[in-house]
Amino acid sequence: MTAQPRVGWIGLGNMGTPMSHRLLAAGYPLTVYNRSKDKEEALRAAGAATADSPAALAQQADVVFLMVSDDQAIRELFAGPDGLLAAAARGKLLVNMSTVSPGISEEMASLSQEHGHTYLDAPVSGSVKQAETGQLVIMAGGDEAAFQQVQPLFGHLGKLALHLGATGNGNRAKLAINSLLGVYAQGLAETFLFARQHGLRAEDMQTIVTNSALGNVFSKLKGEAIMADNYQAAFALKLLAKDLRLAQAEGLNTPLAQTVHQTFQQAEPALGDEDVIAVIKHLQA
Ligand code: NAP
Repeated sequence: MTAQPRVGWIGLGNMGTPMSHRLLAAGYPLTVYNRSKDKEEALRAAGAATADSPAALAQQADVVFLMVSDDQAIRELFAGPDGLLAAAARGKLLVNMSTVSPGISEEMASLSQEHGHTYLDAPVSGSVKQAETGQLVIMAGGDEAAFQQVQPLFGHLGKLALHLGATGNGNRAKLAINSLLGVYAQGLAETFLFARQHGLRAEDMQTIVTNSALGNVFSKLKGEAIMADNYQAAFALKLLAKDLRLAQAEGLNTPLAQTVHQTFQQAEPALGDEDVIAVIKHLQA
């Protein structure tokens, strides 16, 4: 990879938009692709080029990041008719930052290698605010030399990037921490509900949690969302429900993991597009 690599970015959702903006602001030449073209406009206005397909994007970039919903999206973007692997180019570094299964990473890593590319799984912990401020935690699996090459770019996206070993290990670490996220989210929601049922003010409960040893960035942001009754998705509940399904498929079936898995699957049909903390509406019903 050259000193100032050309960057390609696929997936301009809640996370991909601020993350790609940061690389553009850091001075990297950037080309973006999003399935729904309207989401490319803000990046184009800020100076990014756009590509008509993942294959076209691969031609114009040395390193390609993906930040999309799920395994299905990754399969289509890599192996679809106009996918990354349909490009004639070779020698690209393909960095999948989406939360997906370890299995799809192993499959795409092997296909990438057959086409002369290198694949890294590099999902993130943190949400939109951390994406905007470059404070994500990045968990990577795959070739260590490739990880070192992409470190300078990770430095603009996160406060920490860890190499965890083989392909899929980034995904495994991400499923582990998002299981904890499910436990926190349900626990926080139940705490506020209990307080409400006993006539305690949400503002007071928030002050108590924030100032206790249990207060953290998550409890601060989600407590504020509960107080404002604002459940617009920063991290959509359906995405956490997906992550908990992936974790269970990997064998995470301890008591709390099972409980949150069940809660979020049940909440998803009605509340999937709202934020994770909208689980409070499911629990109070
Ligand atoms: P999002 O806002 O729902 O955006 C999803 C992106 O994936 C969009 O660009 C969407 O394209 C694209 N996509 C979905 N299916 C596709 C397909 N079949 N083909 C091509 N593109 C497809 O999601 P997000 O919140 O940015 O999350 C992205 C990933 O990061 C997920 O894996 C999520 O679990 C993970 N994550 C999210 C957060 C968070 O707080 N939001 C935090 C950490 C990790 P369209 O615009 O065309 O729909």
